[in-house]
Amino acid sequence: MKRFFTLLLSLTLLTGCSSLHSHQWNDANYQQPSTCSICHETRGLPLQADFDAYGITAFVTTGQSAAYTTRCQEEDLSAEGTFTVSDHQIIASDSNHAAVTGYNWHIITMTIDMEDPNSNEYGFLYNYFITDFYDIAGFEMSYKANESGSNSFTVNYNGQDYDKCLCQSVTSSSNWTKKNDGFIKTVTIVMNILIPENYDGIVIGVRNSALDTEGKYLFNEYYSRDDFILYRVDG
Ligand SMILES: [Zn+2]
Repeated sequence: MKRFFTLLLSLTLLTGCSSLHSHQWNDANYQQPSTCSICHETRGLPLQADFDAYGITAFVTTGQSAAYTTRCQEEDLSAEGTFTVSDHQIIASDSNHAAVTGYNWHIITMTIDMEDPNSNEYGFLYNYFITDFYDIAGFEMSYKANESGSNSFTVNYNGQDYDKCLCQSVTSSSNWTKKNDGFIKTVTIVMNILIPENYDGIVIGVRNSALDTEGKYLFNEYYSRDDFILYRVDG
């Protein structure tokens, strides 16, 4: 009987404790569900990422190559090549990358090797892009091209807007050099991306230049699996 009373007393105390406040629910964000700011109880789920909502799933990893199909420059013909993410460095700062508290620089090197006969004869086009896994529209509306060549954007991470994000791209290409019966050219794209520490939402890559994007502004409006190679910037 004594044990029964003790148990009853504890239950009463627990109930009484939670009635001391009414929950103050913060909005859910892409990383966390709605959370009470007083007791940290959660309800529901984090917001659904746009890439999950649209079923965009295929990513290459660092060091991995993938077949790249694009369009010839001088004729409406396809050209086949190879896309590789050859390097991904993460640093707080160096002599070319100024430190920003709470952010890291991601320096990602991507290459496109083209050697098929169509590209040898008619040249080739390529397109690269940057978008956001969680909030495509929010990313694209915040993205601003600056005169310095350093583009700025905002991402929301753990419910907080980070508006000091930057993306600077440098592209270069080799001359056509003899290989087997034809020629090969390599395009190198280095993207320097400043994002919050541990943020895993930036997606970069290349797309088929034959893809018609006219009148379409958001990534999900013109994405098709066969025309894109995606790389997720995490870590
Ligand atoms: Zn609460």
